[in-house]
Amino acid sequence: MTPQNPVMRVCISCRKTYDRKNLLKITKDYKQGIMFQKGMGRSAYICKSKKCYSDSKIKKKLQKSLKTFLRPEFIEIFEKEITSYNDYPNKGI
Ligand SMILES: [Zn+2]
Repeated sequence: MTPQNPVMRVCISCRKTYDRKNLLKITKDYKQGIMFQKGMGRSAYICKSKKCYSDSKIKKKLQKSLKTFLRPEFIEIFEKEITSYNDYPNKGI
């Protein structure tokens, strides 16, 4: 077993850098569309601070960084996902 260096990523909302494990990853999978914590394709990361995920501009920011259109119901699913997401990396939906 070799110790692994944490993978650092930037939250698209507050622009702070966090250990990847503490961020929710949203991916525009090239086949299956929007996925949380998995999928292959363009990804965005967001931290678990309420200020970030409940930001009224978060959908716009996500659309911009994923270069895709997010359906209106996305935000509901996203909030459920990020509030239930505690330290379980790679948990999918
Ligand atoms: Zn943030």
